[in-house]
Amino acid sequence: MSRVQNGVGAGRFAPSPSGDLHLGNLRTALLAWLFARSTGRRFLVRMEDLDDRTQPGAAERQLADLSALGLDWDGEVVYQSQRLDRYTAAIETLAAASLVYECYCTRREIQEAPSAPHAPPGAYPGTCRELTAYQRARIRQTRPNPALRLRSDVSEFTVCDELHGEYLGAVDDFVLRRGDGTPAYNLAVVVDDAACGIDQVVRGDDLLASSPRQAYLARLLGYPAPRYAHVPLVLNAAGARPAKRDGAVTLADRAAAGETPADVVAALAHSLALHGNSPAALLRQFRPELLPRTPWQFCVSA
Ligand SMILES: [Zn+2]
Repeated sequence: MSRVQNGVGAGRFAPSPSGDLHLGNLRTALLAWLFARSTGRRFLVRMEDLDDRTQPGAAERQLADLSALGLDWDGEVVYQSQRLDRYTAAIETLAAASLVYECYCTRREIQEAPSAPHAPPGAYPGTCRELTAYQRARIRQTRPNPALRLRSDVSEFTVCDELHGEYLGAVDDFVLRRGDGTPAYNLAVVVDDAACGIDQVVRGDDLLASSPRQAYLARLLGYPAPRYAHVPLVLNAAGARPAKRDGAVTLADRAAAGETPADVVAALAHSLALHGNSPAALLRQFRPELLPRTPWQFCVSA
């Protein structure tokens, strides 16, 4: 198991094994590797395989793609599905501090509930927060599988981001464990990052808005907050996240079109204002402050 070694921190790449990595994922992986290696950190890979989108064989193909690009990692790959006891323990720690409550709401009820004053759009309105034991027992007769939510005592929290600076974002009573028993993404990420000594989180900027929730949860659990770097996404010609219909977006697709992994690294490097066709060559030039701050829009020829 990965532990902090000699005070050296770690960065990470944490894909969901729900299919092949596309160029945007590969670019984020390259950036996470560059951020970690350029600061002397270890680089870890974690498979976020808790939800039912996980596809058999996808994790192995993703790891093979990372290796083909020349990205190496330290220690064993972590699989969240093998760490359920850690998430349970974290929820028990929070529950012992009266920071957890049962929520019986359906998704639709939450969407249709009037939001609390000053709450950001989509925030949980707090419907189940103050239910009495008697009320809970009654509801449980017809809804026996509640989700567990965090009893948050803040409505916003600040994180420190390499590219976005001080970022203040909303924190609501977010879900810790879903009604079907699956640990929620926000909980699992925080528990795993801390357990593995990860102090640098580099990922797509679609996750920037969830970082205050995660940093707040880390504080409640007594974990240090990581440094964040939320990097621009790759978008297709229409300005959306790339998908199969966009053509040759995976490494296998690019190989079929006659490109080597080194060609793909060179294209990713170009999008980052770097030059070279191996991660090691890019490492020598990498300066986070010089990264392009806008999404990389690409048009592929299949
Ligand atoms: Zn509820």
